[in-house]
Amino acid sequence: MTRERPDLLRRLADEHARRARESLLRRVRTVEPGGGAHIVVDGKRLANFASNDYLGLARHPRLVEALVRAARSDGVGSGAAHLLGGHRDAHSRLEEALARWTGRERALLFSTGYMANLGAIGGLVGANDVCVQDRLNHASLLDGARLAGCTLKRYVHADVASAARQLAARPEAAALLASDGVFSMDGDVAPLGELAALCTAQDATLMVDDAHGLGVLGPDGAGSVAEAGLSQHDVPVLVGTLGKALGTFGAFVAGSSALIDGLVQGARPFVYTTAMPPALAAATCAAIDVARFEGWRRDRLARLVAHVRHGAAARGIALMASRTPIQPVPVGDGAAALAVSMQLAERGFFVPAVRPPTVPPGQSRLRLTLSAAHEESDVERLLDALVDALDRAVPGPSRSSATRGPSFDGKG
Ligand SMILES: *Cc1c(COP(=O)(O)O)cnc(C)c1O
Repeated sequence: MTRERPDLLRRLADEHARRARESLLRRVRTVEPGGGAHIVVDGKRLANFASNDYLGLARHPRLVEALVRAARSDGVGSGAAHLLGGHRDAHSRLEEALARWTGRERALLFSTGYMANLGAIGGLVGANDVCVQDRLNHASLLDGARLAGCTLKRYVHADVASAARQLAARPEAAALLASDGVFSMDGDVAPLGELAALCTAQDATLMVDDAHGLGVLGPDGAGSVAEAGLSQHDVPVLVGTLGKALGTFGAFVAGSSALIDGLVQGARPFVYTTAMPPALAAATCAAIDVARFEGWRRDRLARLVAHVRHGAAARGIALMASRTPIQPVPVGDGAAALAVSMQLAERGFFVPAVRPPTVPPGQSRLRLTLSAAHEESDVERLLDALVDALDRAVPGPSRSSATRGPSFDGKG
């Protein structure tokens, strides 16, 4: 009997060809900073409306200075995992600063947000447990539940009744309910107060990934959970990332001493990885200072958000329901979204198209993000270019209905 074993690389190439045919290829572009909120792509300087550097801190002189000074005295690499001699004073100071800022007892550093989510979920739940998640949660939360080997139940986006049904289906199982605080591709804020009440009523533990809320929302930028007035008791597991509004790199889990002690022992992405460079921790301490105390950055961001929403409405451009710096422009078709993005690049703007599988089929969009480093004039020019690009790429009697796209509820 002859067996035809599939060739793995051939299969990968076939899949690549399919994605190319369907205009779904993703491409790594090498970019350079272009000053302010600009980047240089393929030799062309573009206003960058794609970055998660919401407060404009990634190039802030205080952060750069802190990084360089710490690297001069401590070197670059930490040399080991936290438990094996890699944990330095800068790490401890950063963990304390994060705990203070978020109003939690303790915080634990992870190398990335992806790993923080794998670590927190894997440290808390296992085979006999259930993890209930919003359908539009970040991929790392979904992967965390898959890797933990628990039962993963997903609920209709931002629908607390749907979440309640998923929890009620397994009343005997230990349960973790996990949600993004601000949804990364949609920009809306989770119904955190209601989710907290649900978890209290059903004896479930609530975990919030505030990657896009920290630094942006809440008093002193303490995030979406602080904005909702929720304590460590309400949201026992809080994840934040350092590579977005804080402008550096890395992530943390914050909560009670019991949580952190448990994760130090049992969170594999914490135990089995090299500690982040201590100079990065020092730079992030500086970033927290700037983020907390330069409130004008958040005020400016809020003004830019209002400007984009008013300007889009005045031009008949439909935006998704978001009050955060993530202001996606729905297009629907993947090829059309790509065409709009390319037109915008020609006019001097970097606004990438987000297509399946990052978003559900038929819900391709431009993921437009704002930063305190933008000027109002940048936003005006972007909106003018956007009207033209949408008119060309999305023909039809009414642009505003053609671009509104399908409803998100119940899909995905
Ligand atoms: C970006 C992001 C992550 C991953 O964080 P990294 O530090 O980039 O790995 C996790 N969750 C959400 C919601 C994110 O947007």
